[in-house]
Amino acid sequence: METFAELGLKEEVNEALKDLGFEKPTPIQAQAIPHLLTTGGDLVALAQTGTGKTAAFSLPIIEQVDLNEKTVQAFILSPTRELCLQIAKDIQKFTKNLRKIKTIPVYGGARIDTQIKELLAGGQIVVGTPGRVCDMIRRKKLDLSHLKWVVLDEADEMLSMGFKDELDFILETTPDEKQTLLFSATMPKEIARIAKRYMTNPHEIAAGEKNSGAKNVTHIYYTMQHRNKYQALKRIADVNPNIYSIVFCRTRRETKEVADMLVQDGYNADALHGDLSQAQRDVVMHRLRSKRLQILVATDVAARGIDVDSLTHVINFSLPDQIEAYTHRSGRTGRAGNKGISIVLVTNRETHKIRQIERKIGKEFEKGVIPKGREICEIRLMSLIEGLKQVEVDEENIKEFLPAIYENLNDLSKEDVIKKFVSVEFNRILSYYKGARDLNDSSGGSRERDRNKNDRRDKRDRRDRGGDRNYDDDHLKYARFHINLGQKNNINPARLMGMINDIPEISKVEIGQIEIFKKFSFFDVDKEYKAQIEKALNGQDFDGATIVVEPVKERPKSKSRDRKRGGDRSDRGGYKKRRGGGSDRAHRAKRDGFKKKRRR
Ligand code: AMP
Repeated sequence: METFAELGLKEEVNEALKDLGFEKPTPIQAQAIPHLLTTGGDLVALAQTGTGKTAAFSLPIIEQVDLNEKTVQAFILSPTRELCLQIAKDIQKFTKNLRKIKTIPVYGGARIDTQIKELLAGGQIVVGTPGRVCDMIRRKKLDLSHLKWVVLDEADEMLSMGFKDELDFILETTPDEKQTLLFSATMPKEIARIAKRYMTNPHEIAAGEKNSGAKNVTHIYYTMQHRNKYQALKRIADVNPNIYSIVFCRTRRETKEVADMLVQDGYNADALHGDLSQAQRDVVMHRLRSKRLQILVATDVAARGIDVDSLTHVINFSLPDQIEAYTHRSGRTGRAGNKGISIVLVTNRETHKIRQIERKIGKEFEKGVIPKGREICEIRLMSLIEGLKQVEVDEENIKEFLPAIYENLNDLSKEDVIKKFVSVEFNRILSYYKGARDLNDSSGGSRERDRNKNDRRDKRDRRDRGGDRNYDDDHLKYARFHINLGQKNNINPARLMGMINDIPEISKVEIGQIEIFKKFSFFDVDKEYKAQIEKALNGQDFDGATIVVEPVKERPKSKSRDRKRGGDRSDRGGYKKRRGGGSDRAHRAKRDGFKKKRRR
């Protein structure tokens, strides 16, 4: 089947598809549509997002739905609100010339009374998310007893999000005589169970090889020590100035921390996780879709249903627990004919997981080399120059200012002007990467050597900044504060520094050591600003807690070596490991991500 015209769809639908620029059916459409138009049999389709699966199941439904009946004839269950809205929107586009068809999205996080009204007004197609749909069924506002089609979209996601009971409940309320379509990117055992329980001899199709990663995605892994992960992430972002990416983390906490650190370090980043309200999620998603946000840091659950076609990179800051989730993550790039890169950051110990994923997706990873400082500087510089060449000059408006500018620059040669102009932008990155060390951990047995190398570099750094300084010297410069916020309040060095930097009248304060404990924290700031900090922070609200900061009178004295520290601004945010206690992974990541040099 070469064209949509050959399918014999309604003229109104063909017109709409033409307007959307759909010329040829995608492979999944070419397989699914004829089957669904000619048989009433069930269908299991292995298809990832981006394969055109929405049109594959909805076009045959639109073709066969009874326009004169207003009862719900087709029901599409989707794991997330984003996907639900996307499907409803797509169907509305396909049916824009068919006035009598009504598609109703029913999803959580929005007013239920409005949705009830829409359901009561009647519609042939309902697209819904599990929780809200169960609610509607229980309230007897959604009647699925006249269904002819049920579609389970992203069924594997639905199960991994824990909607098994909802799925069973919903399917139990549907009539026996109907066509059931199941779309899933992967085929774990649980999906096979659903297919067996609720479907009759389903016809199986696949858009490509079973469980394979998308064809135009290149998979790359980088090895580094755990404590260098965040630095590696920054280098990858730096070496790709036009990056448009989702960075996946395992937990909400890690997500927040990585996003906070990126923002603090000047990247265009934000977080998406379960602690955000629906309105906050919408704002972040809107920024991502409109490309005003370059890096979204997200958990798997929060990122479900994100339908952005042109992501350049997916970055696995931490690998998911389930290999299936990697397929979903990497499937978010390389869509709609674009090339994509899926990056994994792992320690040497985790490389066996790369082999497991390779087996699962049937594709080999490339081993990447974390870019070195010089390489990053060169790429950024060239990107800056390229940008400069592309800038459009507004001759009309600039001309009145030019004589004064020429006059001012009269003493400088052309070469000097170029050097200075480029340095305006470039000095920051140049000084950041000056003497930066290699982060690659390419040999499993080289941990000790690396540590020694890092220690040597730390020593050199300290020497460059004027020699080792003693903790007690800092006492002369810094005031130490106790604050009543700790890990329990989701405070971390980035948020704490952000809070201090946000105090308008002292935005340039030097911040020293930060120590985060469970229920409270300590931080050092330039003594000069002691009073202003106390005044500005006390009584402020922090996620519902009222801040209390108090200067600490006596600093505990210690002769221990690990109290030695450098005290300049580049060291801000470094904070000590809790004494006497083991630190958990998140704690380590937080500490390691922040430290530009390691205290010993
Ligand atoms: P889906 O997998 O349904 O999310 O579709 C992925 C993207 O491909 C969406 O932007 C669709 O609008 C687009 N698409 C679906 N089918 C076709 C087609 N036959 N030709 C061109 N684009 C399509």
